[in-house]
Amino acid sequence: MRKNIVAGNWKMNTTLQEGVALAEEVNAALAGAQPKCDVVICVPFTHLASVNAVIDQNRLGLGAENCADHEKGAYTGEVSAPMVASTGAKYVILGHSERRQYYGETSEILTEKVKLALANGLTPIFCIGEVLEERENGTYNEVVKKQIEDALFGFSAEEFGKLVLAYEPVWAIGTGKTATAEQAEDMHAHIRNVIAGKYGQEVADNTSILYGGSCKPSNAAELFAKPDVDGGLIGGAALKCDDFMGIVNAF
Ligand code: PEP
Repeated sequence: MRKNIVAGNWKMNTTLQEGVALAEEVNAALAGAQPKCDVVICVPFTHLASVNAVIDQNRLGLGAENCADHEKGAYTGEVSAPMVASTGAKYVILGHSERRQYYGETSEILTEKVKLALANGLTPIFCIGEVLEERENGTYNEVVKKQIEDALFGFSAEEFGKLVLAYEPVWAIGTGKTATAEQAEDMHAHIRNVIAGKYGQEVADNTSILYGGSCKPSNAAELFAKPDVDGGLIGGAALKCDDFMGIVNAF
């Protein structure tokens, strides 16, 4: 069956020293807790190897926030999936709305990234979600369906089964505006139906679908109580150990 997961997305925050200290703090907090979910932190590339050295990945998984759409070669400044995997990381966030919006990542590019992540043993946490205008004009279900179809439906059922999805309504990211638990549940159930339509109910039932967008200790329990919400992708609240643990403990 699918797993419950709480994953932090640190984005472009923390120096190496601050990041290592935060990772150590979260790792220590988890040692004394009995979380009812898997816990992951996705950190800047520069931090991966150092964070890997100070955490126990049996209790705190490690991921990157992106990887390149090429395996190696003359792509100055890029970081490949094999490089990410070589740090000890096990996860990679792909398709985050900030990557789509600010760095022009298209579905075609994202398909390549997912392929390379899977080929290198990384679990992609693949983000999808509509912008405010699409929420307001009522096209959000089609928009999210198309994001999944365009980037992911070329994969086999076996490959698809290795993905984690994260529904992140763009209007809720970093805005303090959370989707209601009902809005999240409606979309997560829709996503599961879309998956079932292509790969069958078993694959759909086994896919973890996380909610992301201003998730915090005060609203996590209500969101996670919904049957199709399997955890959260956490931005701002992942940068403080107490807030992050408050969300982990909401399960
Ligand atoms: C995110 O960007 O993945 C996210 C969910 O951010 P925040 O929690 O800050 O809205």
